[in-house]
Amino acid sequence: MRFQQQVEKPPEVNLKIWSCNSDDCNGWMRDNFKSDEEPECPLCGHAMVEDEKTLPVLENFSAVSIKKE
Ligand SMILES: [Zn+2]
Repeated sequence: MRFQQQVEKPPEVNLKIWSCNSDDCNGWMRDNFKSDEEPECPLCGHAMVEDEKTLPVLENFSAVSIKKE
């Protein structure tokens, strides 16, 4: 779901990510941070699925919402 733009937004990029397949979990990680071809969610251990996320370019450096260890 998207809201209409209200203010000028920074440019965004589409990143390939992996998101947790569990409905109860919001865990996700960037593709280049995955440790496996089929990573498991660091939060709950559930399998993850390939996904895309649109992020502002400026946030391109913040890797994940979760620390790896
Ligand atoms: Zn999870």
